Amino acid sequence: NTPLHELDPAVAAAVDAELHRQQSTLEMIASENFAPVAVMEAQGSVLTNKYAEGYPGRRYYGGCEHVDVVEQIAVDRVKELFGAEHANVQPHSGAQANAAAMFALLKPGDTIMGLDLAHGGHLTHGMKINFSGKLYDVVAYHVGEDGRVDMAEVERLAREARPKLIVAGWSAYPRQLDFAAFRRIADEAGAYLMVDMAHFAGLVAAGLHPNPVPHAHVVTTTTHKTLGGPRGGVILSTAELAKKVNSAVFPGQQGGPLEHVIAAKAVAFKVAASEDFKERQRRTLEGARLLAERLVRDDVRAVGVDVLSGGTDVHLVLVDLRDSELDGRQAEDRLHEIGITVNRNAVPNDPRPPMVTSGLRIGTPALATRGFTAEDFAEVADVIAEALKPSYDAEALKARVKALAGRHPLYPGLTK
Ligand code: PLP
Repeated sequence: NTPLHELDPAVAAAVDAELHRQQSTLEMIASENFAPVAVMEAQGSVLTNKYAEGYPGRRYYGGCEHVDVVEQIAVDRVKELFGAEHANVQPHSGAQANAAAMFALLKPGDTIMGLDLAHGGHLTHGMKINFSGKLYDVVAYHVGEDGRVDMAEVERLAREARPKLIVAGWSAYPRQLDFAAFRRIADEAGAYLMVDMAHFAGLVAAGLHPNPVPHAHVVTTTTHKTLGGPRGGVILSTAELAKKVNSAVFPGQQGGPLEHVIAAKAVAFKVAASEDFKERQRRTLEGARLLAERLVRDDVRAVGVDVLSGGTDVHLVLVDLRDSELDGRQAEDRLHEIGITVNRNAVPNDPRPPMVTSGLRIGTPALATRGFTAEDFAEVADVIAEALKPSYDAEALKARVKALAGRHPLYPGLTK
């Protein structure tokens, strides 16, 4: 029972340093969030010791009576949260949820459609060297000149390619998708519709984004982005597909479920059903809107900065640096220098190489969790705008970031 600091000072020091980094900088990676202490407590519990292959009531190991309770609570809560007929809470991650969902519905060599990676799709939606690109024949769709998914192209490609599965979802896209239109196109093509709501699931849970569940055969998500839970995945489906989905996860793709993570997912689903969570998601959206507004002001546009699609309906903003002297990597480094963490991101038809890019993806979920108000987000937006100008004053901006971080302490109870 030796504590971590005594048993392994090297690892403990890195964990402490990471806590300090999270506390002292502004986290604006759109796919990140801060899990509540109760979620981390469940994830760090003795449930990590338990093997539980199978499903509640039908396990291949003895001693599962308590993890059965935990997993059933997680399943019931997430079904209720999203109005789904069936839920599988065992996928270890979003990528594994997508792999299992595809495994449930497809055979190798089948055709799938997904949003092109360079236009905001995810690796698992058909990227060439991902399992999805290797196992399936991929027809990618794109965003148009207005930065929005080109539904006319989706319809045309679906008619031509007759895919078995259409994936609707994204990792870097600032607008909402038309799930009803996707379903109509999928039905006409004889395809399943899978929605990957990994990014916007928290907004859906709060009722601030259309719910894909009534439209899709299968919905996958991560639990650690806007949902704010532990790292992990979930698959929701119709009752009709329940058996296929379950057997695709186990024994199809995974062995023993991570019951400690499933416990943490259950806690996160409870939090996501609360009024506080809704209020937090409202601030998340407001923060993103303020950020988009302030990055298209004349003085910012004058240095070649723009916002893709002209704004945002979700928790992130895509900054377009095609006309800026700063490329994506330099802009990411510059924000890092003043204490703001974001990631560079390719924009559609990006003239710069993928390791450099001409864009930034900036998200507000983590700062909203930290308690940032509209006023704070306006200040963050102004700091970012100043940082992207050639005349930026690093020391002054660092001080403003420090003041913002100080106003909203993160995990105060965890600091030694
Ligand atoms: N799906 C989408 C849309 C994502 O953005 C991501 C991660 O960024 C994933 C799936 C994969 O999730 P994970 O990193 O947990 O495998």
